[in-house]
Order: sequence, then structure tokens, then C-alpha cells
Amino acid sequence: MTEKMVAPELFRPPLDFPDVPYDHLVRIAAEHAPDRPAIIYHNLILTYREVVSMINCIANGLHELGIRKGECICLFTTNRPEYTLTFIAAGSIGAVVSPMNPAYKEREVTYQLENSEASTILIQRELVPILKLVLSQKSFPHLKHILVTGDHPPEGLPDAIPLATLIRRSSPKYQKHVEISGDDLLALPYSSGTTGLPKGTMLTHHNLTSNNLQFTTALRTDPNDVALLFLPFYHIYGVMLTGSFLACGGTQVLMERFDLLQSLELCEKHKVTYYFAVPPIILALANAPVDLGKLKSLKYIFSGAAPLPLDPARRLQEKTGIQVVQGYGMTEASPLTHSQPGDPSLVRLDSVGMPTHNTEQKVMDIETGERELPLGEDGEIIIRGPQIMAGYWKAPEETARTLRDGWLYTGDIGHIDADGYTYIVDRKKEMIKYKGFGVAPAEIESLLMEHPAVLDSAVIGVPDDEAGELIKGFVVLRKGQNATPNEIITFANGKLAGYKRVHIIEFIDAIPKTASGKILRRDLKEREKARTAQQ
Ligand code: AMP
Repeated sequence: MTEKMVAPELFRPPLDFPDVPYDHLVRIAAEHAPDRPAIIYHNLILTYREVVSMINCIANGLHELGIRKGECICLFTTNRPEYTLTFIAAGSIGAVVSPMNPAYKEREVTYQLENSEASTILIQRELVPILKLVLSQKSFPHLKHILVTGDHPPEGLPDAIPLATLIRRSSPKYQKHVEISGDDLLALPYSSGTTGLPKGTMLTHHNLTSNNLQFTTALRTDPNDVALLFLPFYHIYGVMLTGSFLACGGTQVLMERFDLLQSLELCEKHKVTYYFAVPPIILALANAPVDLGKLKSLKYIFSGAAPLPLDPARRLQEKTGIQVVQGYGMTEASPLTHSQPGDPSLVRLDSVGMPTHNTEQKVMDIETGERELPLGEDGEIIIRGPQIMAGYWKAPEETARTLRDGWLYTGDIGHIDADGYTYIVDRKKEMIKYKGFGVAPAEIESLLMEHPAVLDSAVIGVPDDEAGELIKGFVVLRKGQNATPNEIITFANGKLAGYKRVHIIEFIDAIPKTASGKILRRDLKEREKARTAQQ
């Protein structure tokens, strides 16, 4: 469908994506330019040759530990070279990587360790206390190995193996331990999907390899490009960035967390060409009372993960003269499905662009998802392509609802214009987006219900200029019980990673529900809209 209507200069011809294991992409880049800088982290510069040697050491070390094809390894670290190297190494021996947010609290770590059935966790040294707490409260029959960043075992976890020791005692020679096909699982990032609790999203080698190539082709990256990567690697956006910049032979400069001034310094120092952001960062840059001249080496400022606020994006463009573009995607699509045309004169800021290579889209009626809508009409966007997940881990019903005849039902509402540009206008799915991070209302609701005074609850996102959405909980109190909104907020937020923080609690007599007991979130959103309109 897309091919028929897109203007010829915007048409993305199908490409032949090789069906190779994920680690092959960086190996090919390293063969072409072994001495080029691949990863810069503080004062450490790793060349492509060094990256591949370390990947081989880690892969051999993991294999010697007894980790085999199909076993899951949780990566519980911030953005650091160990993360990327272990990800690729694990994939090269057929293991499956599940990225875990380093801001997670005990409850969240427990859920992912248990649900993913991880046999191994790589943990950043500073996070050891959380893991110790988790292990003291529960046993995890699948968990056999704990790896820790650094070069000595942490206190209180005598069996943990320092990653430096594993690397030191292993051979840097490539050994093919196992046959890997494109359909083998590679990653298990967690996403709330359209409804319910966070689920492991099963991404294969072919999914991620294709998406890296779709990304580098659509953005026209080349080995001279330098990317600044502060977006978290535990989120699929970060997974794509760190993998893609190794695949294209470019250089990536890592930041463990976003800091505006430091990001400017690093752009200047390393002559960064690609700056990847989420909407609140675009807003922060547009409003920053500082000279943005240090960004002058940039070709693009890229925004994704949530709707781009247009006014700040335009102001940022005017201030810097640098093109801002937005892309679109989701965890279930590895993540990229749409990006702007490579030619800056064809970029439309309010659109997410058009499907990437080998990607098809349709717009379906919102209620049933069975009738295709004509151009210009808003409906649910559905997508098909090599980057679409194999399904949700241990969740066949959710998988069947989300993947139908090979099409991914995105839960996003939008339309396509006569020139083939796609516009996302709303979200049908439950997911809340706080500063670009997906939050599953069901997870917050079940936590709120653990408060002794709470009988029932429903959680929605409410619009916010800075964060995109804030998390609001509607709560029904038990008869005879008393609690203040603040008490409930404190109770919940003590158990949640920062980005899932509940901002507002409102008491309500009853949660609106369908006859079958499903929360009518639309009603709650309408109620919020009416209230804001009155203010
Ligand atoms: P995640 O799985 O956390 O990457 O979240 C994916 C969701 O983020 C999508 O389904 C959209 O709802 C939202 N999203 C991502 N990019 C954009 C964008 N450019 N505009 C609007 N929403 C977006």
C-alpha cells in the first residue's frame, strides 16, 4: 500500500537484509576499519579491533561458565561499554539478553528476574545492594551466575564473578560455539504492550540485525559519524543506537545519564554528528539559557519515543540551524518503523516520516482493526516488516491480540497523508509515556491495591508540557479506612523506579468499568479533559 502512494523521491526500495547473527555486523565493521574508535567512555577509547577481542573473550567466558543457547542473561547496568559488549557476546553464543532498568527497585528486579527465567545477571557494582536484598527475600531457581562489573568480587556476593576476571581468563579468538539462525531469540526487553503487566518482547537476531540496517540506511549514517548516546541502553531505543553505530562502523560516545551542559561539551570535544533525544530533552535544549554553538558539528537532532512538541522543536532549529527530525517505533518493532526522508528539504517536523525499508503499514478502523481506512483518516496503525517481534514471552493471548497475520497492531492512532507521510495523533493502548518511558498502568494499579486502605484503583496518563504525561491514580478507599493522597503516593513511589512515579492521586467513589470488569480508561481521560477545560 505504501509503495503505491508514496511520491517517487520518498519511496524506499526493498533491501536485501542478510540473515546473519547479530554479532556479524560489528565483525564486518571491524574488518573494514579495525583501528577506528568504536566506543568512547570517559577517557577510555575502544577501537573496533579491541571491541571484537573483548566480545570474543566475554563470549568464550560465558560459554565456559556453561551458559548455553536459549538461556537468558539480564543486563542490569547503566550505559557503559560492558553493557554493549556483553549484549553482543551473549548473542553470539545464542543466549538471550534481557535489559533491566538500573533505576529498578526490588519489586521490579524480582519481577523481571523471575518472569524472564534468567540464568545469569550482569550487574553494575553500585547496584549490588539491590540484588543482595532481592536474593535475601526470594530464591530464583533459574539463576545460576552473577557477573559484576569491575575486577574484584563485591562484598556479600562471594560467588559473583567480576567481568574483568572473565575477560582476562578467556581467549580473544573467535570460536563458533553454536549455530545461530535468524529466527533464534536474541533479546527480551520488557514492554507493557497494549494492555496488562510488562511483558518480555521476543526479538530475534533477524529482527535486530534488520533494524540496525534499516536505521543506518534511513539515517544515512557512515563510518565518519559520531553519536552521543545518553538515552538508556535498557530501553529499546538505546539498544538500537548502540548496536547500529557499531554496525555502521561509526563512533559512539557514551554518557551514563543525561546532563545538558556535559552533552554540549562532549559534542564539541568529539565533533558529534548525531544527537539522539526524547521530547523533554528537545524542550530543555530549546529553553536552555546557554550558547548552543557547541552543537555545530551536528547533522541532526533526532527525537523519538513520544510525540515531539512542535514549538520547542522549531525554536531549537532556529536557535541552532540544525535539523530536528522525529522517528517512531516501539519495543515490539526492535524499535524503528518510521523515519524522515534522508533529504533535509523533505523533512516534515510534525510527521514521523514514512516506513523504513522493507516495512509496510496500513491504517485500520479503531474498533475492530479489520477494515482498512483510506488516506487521511485516523485509525490504528498496523505494521509488517522484518523488525517485528516474534511475540510476547509466555503470553500467547497478548501475542495473538497484538500480532495478527504477521501485522503488528501498534495501539497507536494516526493517519497517512497523500504524500505518504505518517502522523501519530493519539494512543489507543493503555501505556503511559513519561518522558519517553513506557509505563504499564496495570503495574501501578496492582501496587496501589496493596495499600491496606485501597479497595480499587485505575491509573491513566494526564498531559504535561514537560514530561508528555504524568501518572495519575484514581483510588477507591475501603469503607472505614482513611488515607491521604500523599500517604498513598509515598507508599507506591517507594517501590517504583523514578519514571513510574505516581504524581497525582484522586479519590473516587467507583472506578468506571465495563460489564466484564475492564477499566474504562477513556471515561477517566474524558473526565480529566472536562476538568482541565473548566480551569
Ligand atoms: P516503547 O515501546 O517504550 O518504545 O514505546 C512505544 C510507543 O511510544 C509507541 O507505540 C508510541 O505510542 C510512542 N511513540 C514512539 N515514538 C513516537 C513518536 N514519534 N510520536 C508519538 N508517539 C511515539
